[in-house]
Amino acid sequence: MIRLTVPSIDEDDLQSVREALESGHLVQGTSVSLFEDIVAKYVGSFSIAVSSCTAALHLSLICLNIKAGDIVLVAAYSWPATANVIELIGGQPVFVDIDSKTFNINPDLLEINLKKLFSNNKTAKRVKAILPVHTFGQLADMPDIMEIANRYDIAVIEDAACALGASLNKRLAGTWGKLGCFSFHPRKIITTGEGGVIITSDYKLAQRLRALRNHGLDPESALPDFIIPGFNYRMTEFQAALGISQMGKIDRIILSRRNLALKYHKYFRNSDIVTPAINKNSKHIFQSYVVLLPQWIADQRTELISDLGKEGIETTIGTCHIPLTRYYRNRYGYKPGDFPNTDEIFSRSLTIPLYESMTIEQQNEVVEKLLNLIRRKS
Ligand SMILES: *Cc1c(COP(=O)(O)O)cnc(C)c1O
Repeated sequence: MIRLTVPSIDEDDLQSVREALESGHLVQGTSVSLFEDIVAKYVGSFSIAVSSCTAALHLSLICLNIKAGDIVLVAAYSWPATANVIELIGGQPVFVDIDSKTFNINPDLLEINLKKLFSNNKTAKRVKAILPVHTFGQLADMPDIMEIANRYDIAVIEDAACALGASLNKRLAGTWGKLGCFSFHPRKIITTGEGGVIITSDYKLAQRLRALRNHGLDPESALPDFIIPGFNYRMTEFQAALGISQMGKIDRIILSRRNLALKYHKYFRNSDIVTPAINKNSKHIFQSYVVLLPQWIADQRTELISDLGKEGIETTIGTCHIPLTRYYRNRYGYKPGDFPNTDEIFSRSLTIPLYESMTIEQQNEVVEKLLNLIRRKS
């Protein structure tokens, strides 16, 4: 089976985790803070390690005092966690459709939504933040999004789960907004099994996040004291140990993913498959390689995924149409047509295998089997 992804786990990763386990200090030791220092140095901000990116997003909303009744604007096309955290604090996600070329939140539609919300005094007061997603490892249009956010004086939290190391105009994902959240799930660029990091350049926010992830414990007082009701969203020492060795190879992994992606681009040229767009001045890290199937085969995608599986190729959909998942449909009454670009991209997208150790032969096999199956169905 050619898997969707295979994490890059080498001998030094095994050694790193082994040492952490053998040390006997499984939590609250030195590995987590060392991992945080390494990530901080890489992105140039303070960094707070947590148990997942979902935890990172949840704490980001809480530390900015975003509360029940508040509105957060969010991309319609993403993993549900992006919107779920807003629901979980009692807030209301207002979904914004994406750009069908980049799969990222469309700044023009963001502006239209904000205009509408700000034209009414009641809703204007409730709007607190924008939560753009760097879909599949390519940055959203951050210059435009930041300009809009500054004009309306609302915060930006970046869901950079898939985008550690990606940049736009040489500026890294996670460093544009007030807070940036990364994931280290095995399908992301580097992994700690489960895990996440929040980055911010605001020291006060960083300290508040440290308290929130650790039962509310004051990170600055010598004697234990609790300054806020907090969570246990901590990362373990052996996860951080894995993160440390993984950070040592992040540039190697990104380089290899980008090269493999370019090969796919070439192999699919002159075919019915639409390859992912790379924006100007954008460094896409290809957390996933997501192609668009021809329109006519979109309604046979489930069958196509299953047929490819039978031929030894693991594939899946792109990501979720959050407003059309059952919870959000039932709660807010969304229907097909409300987010036309997300409708189209959701129905046509297919994630194909991409991982560092993938061979040219394996890539060729994926391309041939996919194109053959499409031909047979036409
Ligand atoms: C993976 C992912 C998440 C969730 O990350 P976890 O670490 O699994 O909690 C959130 N948002 C996006 C866009 C993701 O891809």
